[in-house]
Amino acid sequence: MTDYKSSLERLAPRMVAVIGLPLDENSSFLRGPALAPPCIREALHSGASNLCAENGVDLGADPHWHDVGDLMLSSGAEALAQIEQALDQLLARDARVLSLGGDHSVTYPILRAYAKKHPRLTILHLDAHPDLYDEFEGNRNSHACPFARIMEQGLAARLVQVGIRTMNPHQRQQAERFGVRAIEMRDGKPVTAFDLDGPVYVSLDLDVLDPAFAPGVSHHEPGGLATREVLDILHNLQGTVVGADLVEFNPTRDPTGVTAMVAAKFYKEIVARMLP
Ligand code: MN
Ligand code: MN
Repeated sequence: MTDYKSSLERLAPRMVAVIGLPLDENSSFLRGPALAPPCIREALHSGASNLCAENGVDLGADPHWHDVGDLMLSSGAEALAQIEQALDQLLARDARVLSLGGDHSVTYPILRAYAKKHPRLTILHLDAHPDLYDEFEGNRNSHACPFARIMEQGLAARLVQVGIRTMNPHQRQQAERFGVRAIEMRDGKPVTAFDLDGPVYVSLDLDVLDPAFAPGVSHHEPGGLATREVLDILHNLQGTVVGADLVEFNPTRDPTGVTAMVAAKFYKEIVARMLP
């Protein structure tokens, strides 16, 4: 595995940086996503596929991106502070960062860093869950809460959620309070094109997919998107994608390795989308 600190020095300005954030202590149901970053890399480089994104960009030949490895994290508030600090460092080099979770709690400290650099950010959040709880089982940093923290602190100008199918009265109230545009699965045919402009941050929780496509997640929530629909969303996205995260892959629930390949596919397509 790449060593984070020595690897950071190889990151030239304006490149795409990939960083692993092995944190899953804020998961409410199962642990496991902390194991995800090396599994995603293994799938990416396994030889089962190639490093070409669908638009023809060959990541194997493109020098404008670099995986800086996994961040060594402690726990509690300290771990979140470490993530924010690491993202500060990467953004200071004008990098566009793809963060590999970890559970979804990592997105809050990531956005704390991004907001300093991009004060008018639009977040496109793909998830089965709105993750808007004020607190969950006593934890305000739960993976069920990141978008409540982000919106109450004004870390993004706009939040658009896609794939939602677990909205409850509390979170609906929160969505209204924060002016969230939630496109729910029950609304009908999945929307795959959005009128987003300005800098866009993509937060991709793998459980946005139907569990038939990606069983390796902690929360199996039937009735989700197809892999192809998420790819279409990534490809059709207007605006400049300045950062992204890929979270909630749980390798302990992925016996055939198919979810790791889905994550590797999204990794390729997102990096290709962010390249200078
Ligand atoms: Mn989530
Ligand atoms: Mn989710």
